[in-house]
Amino acid sequence: MSNDVNYIKDCPKCNGSGEMDCPSCGGSGYDYMDGGQCDRCDGTGDVTCNRCHGSGVVSA
Ligand SMILES: [Zn+2]
Ligand SMILES: [Zn+2]
Repeated sequence: MSNDVNYIKDCPKCNGSGEMDCPSCGGSGYDYMDGGQCDRCDGTGDVTCNRCHGSGVVSA
């Protein structure tokens, strides 16, 4: 057994929330190009963080 501990820390991209502002609408949930709800985030303004894939933590 090795002792390589898997250190984890809060994801710096989303600050541990697991979500980040939608890059398509900038977090507004509104798609200005389309004039309606943003497809990418379904109007929530948040998308799953692509750094931690929604877990909120990354291995250090
Ligand atoms: Zn969006
Ligand atoms: Zn993250």
